[in-house]
Amino acid sequence: MGNVLAFCEFNEAGLRSSALANLAFARTAAAAHGGQVIALLVGPGAAAASASAAKYAPKVITVEDPGLAAYLAETYAPIVARLAREHGATVVAATATSLGKDLLPRAAALLDAGMASDIAKLASANSFVRPILAGNAYSTIEIGTPIICVTVRQSEFEPAAELGEAGAVTSAPAGALESYGARFERLDAQKSDRPDLGDAKVVVAGGRGMKNGENFKVLEQLADLLGAAMGASRAATDAGMVPADWQVGQTGKIVAPNLYFAVAISGAIQHLAGMKGSKTIVAINKNKDEPIFQVADYGIVAEWEKAVPELIAEIKKLKASR
Ligand SMILES: Cc1cc2nc3c(=O)[nH]c(=O)nc-3n(C[C@H](O)[C@H](O)[C@H](O)COP(=O)(O)OP(=O)(O)OC[C@H]3O[C@@H](n4cnc5c(N)ncnc54)[C@H](O)[C@@H]3O)c2cc1C
Repeated sequence: MGNVLAFCEFNEAGLRSSALANLAFARTAAAAHGGQVIALLVGPGAAAASASAAKYAPKVITVEDPGLAAYLAETYAPIVARLAREHGATVVAATATSLGKDLLPRAAALLDAGMASDIAKLASANSFVRPILAGNAYSTIEIGTPIICVTVRQSEFEPAAELGEAGAVTSAPAGALESYGARFERLDAQKSDRPDLGDAKVVVAGGRGMKNGENFKVLEQLADLLGAAMGASRAATDAGMVPADWQVGQTGKIVAPNLYFAVAISGAIQHLAGMKGSKTIVAINKNKDEPIFQVADYGIVAEWEKAVPELIAEIKKLKASR
């Protein structure tokens, strides 16, 4: 018998949609461990976001403290580890976002827990399926420690549905905060009104075939018409055409939107690893033999210079006719 502590990311609007994949996993793990799901929200705004979390978990714990204003794995991990012990968790889970991947290994070390990262499925109470070789194969790993830490692939779990009844919300103290010599200096983030790449329902991504950063403006127009986030291949981010945090793929962000546009992207295996879980994929590429067309639901063999402005004009017409 053991509970599942699900570390949930949130913003001003409530739980981030990536947290719902973690909660979906947490439910299956709680059933396998005979315990309940406890959603953990840490940081400024946790109490405000707790009502949103209570729709999905029977128990919610919030932790707020001025010392937690800026995320640092060094200060957050001891809180996760302490609450896992206090609440009898045998599984501690987070979504495999950059934050989740930073935090959970540290919590695992503090808990003497085995760690499974990027998991795609729960195979049994203590074994997990995870992709290897850039998503070309899956391995099943078994973890023998009393507490198990996992990061969950957002693209592999359907978002948790709301429970009929709201969960109970409690707060817990942060305790003595120790940052072990780490210090938050500053966050260099691009300000954008677009949705976060990890949470977006629509993503418009461009590749090396866009040729330069200026040309991405046409993709941004398309994105803004659709309320989409911008993404890119590593070739485009490495070339400095667009910011590095737009990168989708094995070494970038893993996304699973309802609609993914891959424009002038060849579809290298490392890019596919980050987006092939998307529900509908539209590829625009001038070369019909590119591997992106093997995963695309809709393929347009054309130069983007012609196809994207035509697409924008059609969407504008449709919007105007409504
Ligand atoms: C360890 C490792 C990790 C990696 N991680 C990632 C990752 O996370 N994400 C990632 O994306 N890559 C990653 N890569 C790189 C990956 O292997 C590819 O090099 C990269 O994805 C290629 O990007 P691309 O498709 O934009 O470029 P290319 O492969 O050069 O493709 C450009 C495409 O544009 C098309 N094109 C050109 N002009 C036009 C036009 N006018 N109109 C329409 N189409 C046009 C071409 O036909 C071509 O298909 C990684 C590689 C390694 C080794």
